[in-house]
Amino acid sequence: MRTLIVSDIHANLTAFEAVLSDAGSYDQVWCLGDVVGYGPDPNECIALLRQQPGLRCIMGNHDAALMGYIDLQAFNDQAARAVTIQSELLSQESRYFLELLDIVIEEGEITFAHGSPREPIWEYVVSGRIANENFSAFLTQICLVGHSHIPSIFVQNPHGRPTILTPQNADRWRSDKRFILNPGSVGQPRDRNPKAAYVIWDDQDDTWLFKRVAYDVESVQKRILELGIPSRHATRLSQGI
Ligand code: ZN
Repeated sequence: MRTLIVSDIHANLTAFEAVLSDAGSYDQVWCLGDVVGYGPDPNECIALLRQQPGLRCIMGNHDAALMGYIDLQAFNDQAARAVTIQSELLSQESRYFLELLDIVIEEGEITFAHGSPREPIWEYVVSGRIANENFSAFLTQICLVGHSHIPSIFVQNPHGRPTILTPQNADRWRSDKRFILNPGSVGQPRDRNPKAAYVIWDDQDDTWLFKRVAYDVESVQKRILELGIPSRHATRLSQGI
């Protein structure tokens, strides 16, 4: 079975479509949160995501903000502005979808949490120290996270800090150890590579394949500006920051 793993689509339909067509055949889709926020197409991204086979999806901080579950004060001004504009665009159907998302899911030997397993909405797993502290917050072998928008793997090391890997396009990972894996972001990569990021897990040979795909960034930037979403969310897309 091939599982397509996406995270942080951030209302970027063009990037999401590029990922779906680049991924080849897949049997199910897991989404690690933040379907909305920042980009121009929240309803379209939700609609396309809902059509995916075997969909499992959790809630991210932007999804929660759009539902009014968390205070906009927790965001910087520009992110809050994008959330406010999207909230006006959001259809009732999209609301129902976001409203019912789980915060954490366990699926076999895999846990999903948007930020981190101990603080699923807000914590960023970006250092060995934070990863290390989070290994006791989940029971499965593997935890999948999003939120930092940086493709990465934190491998547990019983005798010290975790090993940190930052996989590039076409890198494959396989391990019997415990690890926390971030597929990177579809709609707003932040590792200085503007290409959309995703992962394919093949459970036959138990490999995690990291992939990057180019998309038409300019057309997304144009739609962001037309909607009055702060220009930083447009310019950063071409730099991958
Ligand atoms: Zn995000």
